[in-house]
Amino acid sequence: MIEISSLNKKFGKLTVLEGLDLVIDSGGIFAVLGPNGSGKTTLIKSILGMVIPDKGEIKISGESVLKKWKYRNEINYLPQIANFPANLSVKELISMVKNLRPKEANDKALIERFGLEPFLDKKLGNLSGGTKQKVNIVLTFMFESELIILDEPTTGLDPISLIRLKEIIHEEKDKGKTILITTHIMSFVEEIADEIVFLLDGEIYFKGSSHELKERTGQRDLEHAIAHLI
Ligand code: ATP
Repeated sequence: MIEISSLNKKFGKLTVLEGLDLVIDSGGIFAVLGPNGSGKTTLIKSILGMVIPDKGEIKISGESVLKKWKYRNEINYLPQIANFPANLSVKELISMVKNLRPKEANDKALIERFGLEPFLDKKLGNLSGGTKQKVNIVLTFMFESELIILDEPTTGLDPISLIRLKEIIHEEKDKGKTILITTHIMSFVEEIADEIVFLLDGEIYFKGSSHELKERTGQRDLEHAIAHLI
């Protein structure tokens, strides 16, 4: 369970999170939504301990994130922007990450699933955006983790890869994992999310299912429901 209380974060004069309270139960898929710049990545990075809040507390399984730095390595995290070293090959990067984490990795199955075999010897700097994102996904899912945080995993993916991603996310949910996702693709949210967490003005503006959100706004599709919510 993730428990966030009275979270505040400013960057200079810009207030991004203001008194944010949120509880995320273990197990299930949670879509963290909100307009550009509403603070989704800031919230995610705070949970990961990569952003230090000005005020407030974040606990994972009852322990403060800031006191327990090791969480950073226990959470499977897909960053919105993956700054891969351009001169490394895909194979070299995967080996490097495997060496950093003394855990069993299932990279081979994921490489096959995303059709990455022909790219293994290619330099990361020469890959297309979508192929880089597939590498990002392989790196994220190749280790087992109770908590998986995906910051815009859908970016640049072709329809087949999007289906593969959905399958993997569902498989993780079936294993009892907790998955937090940010995305701007509402059809994706509608298909996979158990709950929507909507950020606005530094707070959680809505938390509930897509069905509840549509009922509350009287809209039939999620895109319009979100537009009517704001
Ligand atoms: P998007 O949907 O565009 O990815 P987001 O909801 O993830 O946006 P954040 O990336 O959390 O938004 O950014 C929230 C605000 O905080 C933005 O105005 C951003 O410019 C600002 N911000 C984020 N990180 C920093 C930083 N390190 N220094 C200064 N400002 C920052």
